[in-house]
Amino acid sequence: MSKRDYYEVLGVSRDASQEEIKKAYRRLARKYHPDANKEDPQAAEKFKEIAEAAAVLGDPERRAQYDRFGHAGPEGRGFDFEDIFRQAGFGGFGGFGDIFDIFFGGGARRGPRKGNDLRYDLRLTFREAAFGTEKEIRVPRTESCPQCDGTGAAPGTRPATCPACGGRGQISFTQQTPFGRFVQTRPCDRCRGEGRIIERPCPECRGAGQVRRVRSLTVKVPPGVDDSFRLRLVGEGETGYRGGPPGDLYVYIYVAPDDFFEREGNDVVCELPISFVQAALGDEVDVPTLDGKATIKIPEGTQTGTVFRLRGRGIPYLNGGGRGDQLVRVRVVTPTRLNEKQKELLREFGRQAGSKLHAEEKGFFKKIRDAFMG
Ligand SMILES: [Zn+2]
Ligand SMILES: [Zn+2]
Repeated sequence: MSKRDYYEVLGVSRDASQEEIKKAYRRLARKYHPDANKEDPQAAEKFKEIAEAAAVLGDPERRAQYDRFGHAGPEGRGFDFEDIFRQAGFGGFGGFGDIFDIFFGGGARRGPRKGNDLRYDLRLTFREAAFGTEKEIRVPRTESCPQCDGTGAAPGTRPATCPACGGRGQISFTQQTPFGRFVQTRPCDRCRGEGRIIERPCPECRGAGQVRRVRSLTVKVPPGVDDSFRLRLVGEGETGYRGGPPGDLYVYIYVAPDDFFEREGNDVVCELPISFVQAALGDEVDVPTLDGKATIKIPEGTQTGTVFRLRGRGIPYLNGGGRGDQLVRVRVVTPTRLNEKQKELLREFGRQAGSKLHAEEKGFFKKIRDAFMG
């Protein structure tokens, strides 16, 4: 059976606010609540459909998953409605409660839950990002308390089942309304919805079952990463709840700019200043590359802006398969602070060369003249 669109089930638009979703749910839940529709066998199914839609759309994280991936989204994240429904005490529709609060953060979350994900910002030099590196990082995070094994109870003792709620973490009470008899539930005050009570808290974690630790971890950064690249370290986030798995650690990469190199995709670009004598007569020049120096042959008559390409001297591709290139952009430097002798030589050079330029440059200067003359 194909599932109906959750927004359609609740009759709200895709950009409905949480408040609108809440309202729609309350209205429909009242109408289709099985306790108020004893003669209608369809009502229970209908109610379940509504509750499920509300459970997903009422939770911003699940809703975002659903918006992106449809029904597969929340389920892919371990969202099992039937299971939540049972855990919340609705199995077999024996005691219906205000299921709404369970899903909208008001109720107990007693099952195992995955720990929170963490983020760590890692700064790398240009070369570290290019060639990969191993970094020792120190991450503050919660871990399961080693003293009590995460139970929160003093060593040698165990948490006791809450006598007020019998371990359910919630209290049910019956309410008479114009729509019929409703069984409502609210989180248990005695155990704060935990379903258990710790009589002698663990001295190490004071009953929390978790401790904060600063953990040293080694991060392997592959070659070729760039700014905003994200590494995921599975299970290195905060500890889980009630035996749930730990969250993940996301390492965000920041690459410091380099004085000489700039990155363009997998190519690195640099500027090479040369003297006008080198430019005019040609020369062999050493250029820094990411791995040592390379020699470039500057031909006679090289102009500013000429680009030389050093193949395979760029950044490695992340998925392997070679490297980009290095692009060397030439800038011809006009000499300054000449001494008299040098000036005289240049004047002599000027007399020799005349003010003649090649045909194309002549055309260029003519254009400038025309532009000034209007
Ligand atoms: Zn402890
Ligand atoms: Zn309790």
